[in-house]
Amino acid sequence: APDPTLRPEPRPEDADRALRPQGLGEFIGQAEARANLKVFIESAKQRGEAMDHTLFHGPPGLGKTTLAQIMARELGVNFRMTSGPVLAKAGDLAAILTNLEARDVLFIDEIHRLNPVVEEVLYPAMEDFELDLVIGEGPAARTVRIELQPFTLVGATTRLGLLTTPLRDRFGIPTRLQFYTEDELNEIVTRNARKLGVQQEEGGAREIARRSRGTPRIAGRLLRRVVDFALVEGDGVITKSLADGSLTRLGVDNLGLDGADRRYLTFIAENYGGGPVGVETISAALSESRDAIEEVIEPFLLQQGLIQRTPRGRMLARKAWKHLGLVAPEPGKS
Ligand code: ADP
Repeated sequence: APDPTLRPEPRPEDADRALRPQGLGEFIGQAEARANLKVFIESAKQRGEAMDHTLFHGPPGLGKTTLAQIMARELGVNFRMTSGPVLAKAGDLAAILTNLEARDVLFIDEIHRLNPVVEEVLYPAMEDFELDLVIGEGPAARTVRIELQPFTLVGATTRLGLLTTPLRDRFGIPTRLQFYTEDELNEIVTRNARKLGVQQEEGGAREIARRSRGTPRIAGRLLRRVVDFALVEGDGVITKSLADGSLTRLGVDNLGLDGADRRYLTFIAENYGGGPVGVETISAALSESRDAIEEVIEPFLLQQGLIQRTPRGRMLARKAWKHLGLVAPEPGKS
């Protein structure tokens, strides 16, 4: 029977799996992470051992899942996938761990959301490839130790700070993923357009790349929408002006910010004179979860120098006022 704790479906935005890079050589960007992983994969293969546990952290859509899949493929082992919130009981994790074959890759997405009881089970599994399971209840309860096949745990998280120290310390290869440059995204969009069989002029892909928030997942989604406009309202070719018009209609501005980003900036500008304002206040006012604000909205705005995080809250940077077409208040007045 299918194991309900293993995620059966890819996320909808990843529906077209044909676009996923299959090998490390096809993976664009993240040069440093890629170069290191190449060495660690090769070394594990030469030694015939499971690769060390690897933790990918960084904003959503930057390729954590993709890299984990690539690792399994390059290592020539099975890829199993689950996620922190789905593993409700220790037994759920135990069932997965005892089914792993030697050197398999087990990918746990959102690993910062593991139940503490489940996390406890993970420690000896990661360290010694052993499981301590409690069988039975009350006075009859006893612990049995189960030997596991050596495996590689690949954890992914958007919130490194929420990982407990003991869990963090058990990853031999912590790897931070960065936002992609416009050139890297241009290469990804160009390649994906080719895979989708659509024609594009150089400026077309670049326009999509420039407005993708440094994120391949967003680049993929915007490319699909621009292709829709190109097919229905254009002559099927992605030109710069067609891309520009389509993205503007989708609410993506010339910095790549979407409606949620602009609501965030506008709120701080208009209601708090540019801040500082606490994240809870922003969350309540915008009806966005605090997690979404901290994991999805803020990392890119910080990276772009549009906001600053201070001990007293978030503040707009000069660039944000300019982008909103508003005048920053003079310091001292308010
Ligand atoms: P994460 O797990 O970090 O949220 P994913 O690995 O699911 O991100 O990647 C999101 C989407 O972006 C996938 O469709 C993937 O194919 C694509 N993608 C990610 N990184 C790259 C890359 N370096 N080159 C091409 N496509 C990529």
